[in-house]
Amino acid sequence: MTERVTVFGAGLAGCEAAWQIARRGVPVRLVEMKPGRMTPAHHAPGFAELCCSNSLRSDALTNAVGLLKEEMRRLSSLILEAADATRVPAGSALAVDRNRFSDYITEKIKAHHLIETVEEEATELPDTGVAVVATGPLTSAALAARIAALTGDDGLYFYDAVAPIVAFDGIDMNVAFFASRYGKGEADYINCPMTKEQYDRFYTELINAREAELHDFDKASQQAPAVFEGCMPVEVMARRGYDTLRYGPLKPVGLVDSRTGREPYAVVQLRKEDRAGTMYNLVGFQTHLSFSEQKRVFSLIPGLENAAFLRYGVMHRNTYLRSPGFLAPTYAVKTRPTLFFAGQMTGVEGYVESAGSGLLAGVNAARAARGMEPLPFPRETVLGAMGAYVSEGGLGPFVPMNANFGLLPSLGTRVRGGKAKRNEAISERSLAALAAAFADIEK
Ligand SMILES: Cc1cc2nc3c(=O)[nH]c(=O)nc-3n(C[C@H](O)[C@H](O)[C@H](O)COP(=O)(O)OP(=O)(O)OC[C@H]3O[C@@H](n4cnc5c(N)ncnc54)[C@H](O)[C@@H]3O)c2cc1C
Repeated sequence: MTERVTVFGAGLAGCEAAWQIARRGVPVRLVEMKPGRMTPAHHAPGFAELCCSNSLRSDALTNAVGLLKEEMRRLSSLILEAADATRVPAGSALAVDRNRFSDYITEKIKAHHLIETVEEEATELPDTGVAVVATGPLTSAALAARIAALTGDDGLYFYDAVAPIVAFDGIDMNVAFFASRYGKGEADYINCPMTKEQYDRFYTELINAREAELHDFDKASQQAPAVFEGCMPVEVMARRGYDTLRYGPLKPVGLVDSRTGREPYAVVQLRKEDRAGTMYNLVGFQTHLSFSEQKRVFSLIPGLENAAFLRYGVMHRNTYLRSPGFLAPTYAVKTRPTLFFAGQMTGVEGYVESAGSGLLAGVNAARAARGMEPLPFPRETVLGAMGAYVSEGGLGPFVPMNANFGLLPSLGTRVRGGKAKRNEAISERSLAALAAAFADIEK
């Protein structure tokens, strides 16, 4: 007999998971605490509330999040169906009317004969049965405590600030250079050298740059300096004094530029983010600047003038799992294959990515309920690559990640015609891989 699946949280991931499970003929119980109880960022009563921007970002196939959307459309995603039905003009981006978007999803879910919706705060994880936990980055405290108990104390992160990540192929290596401090070990770091004049300009722009807006709950957490000292935003550190960064993350000692034979005045270091070395993070650059200011000010760093930002630094409360080693690429707990996690709490970042993880987890929860084997998606797809990232992590500390082409295996061949053509070739490969796996996924 097919078992009923419980999904906790009717956000982007939970709604998509519930929909995919029900599409496969499996009954679902969808538990959502709104509107009786709201998180600090949710204000509306409906499901799949977009709590900040109304943009689901690029819709172009030359962009990884655009490709992700196309993969999801081909797998009958409810979130994409709703977005396409409620879109508002926004150039090449897919932006939506957030109220109509939420209404569309709420109505479809509530009208589905296999989905029962329950307004209740989940405070326990089920001991048995198939379940998907998709309660998001602002999971209520009682459930967060249960999850922490399952993962072990250090398995659940609460982070406040993370550094931006750039693509390697946009870094000007005629300016930047590989080296490790004092030449110790492998030359793993990319170093962006600054003269005094370059540092002066960067410093002035950094301390005067505009910060992103703070949410009320973020303001509350900012009053706890102990939490913040360890991951102080770079602009806050800079405001402590002209030389503070030069004795901190921009310290030049031991980093000789072989082209000049000297230590630069200041150095920004970049560390590999993935094994293939396609992505690098700016070491010590946790920040709370607005995205446009990050682009403007960090592009002043010599060598990064034309670098593409794959992920901007962010600062807000976020609950996410130490997923690598804990979750399988299907988002199932490795030691409990009928318990799945989905959404931002697994370490994917963004509305579409969260929904995408809900889709993959939903497909697999439906399989588990019917006694079928798990089905990871092909790694060449963005859906599959995100599952692999969450399950394996990158090289450095595990941080939530937007969809990007750096997560996919390299093409292995040169594509003429520049980056757009190469990205088109990657997209074609992904959609072909999805087509080949389609019949199995749709079971
Ligand atoms: C303040 C803030 C702003 C953000 N802005 C953006 C942005 O502009 N663009 C972007 O792409 N991403 C943004 N994000 C990231 C965003 O959280 C995700 O992109 C996305 O909403 C995550 O989807 P999710 O399904 O994992 O969680 P959510 O969409 O948050 O859904 C989780 C659901 O679970 C419910 N829930 C929580 N605890 C319980 C419980 N114990 N029992 C039952 N239900 C529960 C919540 O009420 C909610 O409905 C932002 C995040 C935050 C915190």
